[in-house]
Amino acid sequence: MGRLFLMHLEGNAYSCKFCRTHLGLAADIISKNFHSKHGKAYLFNRVVNVTSGINEDRMMMTGLHTVSDIFCVGCGSIVGWKYVRSCDGYFAISCALPVRPSSKLYGAPALGGCT
Ligand SMILES: [Zn+2]
Repeated sequence: MGRLFLMHLEGNAYSCKFCRTHLGLAADIISKNFHSKHGKAYLFNRVVNVTSGINEDRMMMTGLHTVSDIFCVGCGSIVGWKYVRSCDGYFAISCALPVRPSSKLYGAPALGGCT
């Protein structure tokens, strides 16, 4: 494995609740009405800064799915799982925290405004 490069997301994003590495954009959330055995989860159609584990068949509330756990590249924690068989590969993140664009991570105020 080479050195991992972390992607930084702009805008309303969700981050790893353990190390605050950015995981996905709010705009990429397909569903918030999602639950894992650990609680609430968000379904994304695109995520960043994760690696996936081995594929396995798992019985979910919506039936049997081939999934793999996904791990935060920042801290190695399991942050959710990925649906392997669905054609677009959806990602469910159960350990996400919202990142507010106004937080200190985003120092610059919104651009625009005349004088
Ligand atoms: Zn993390």
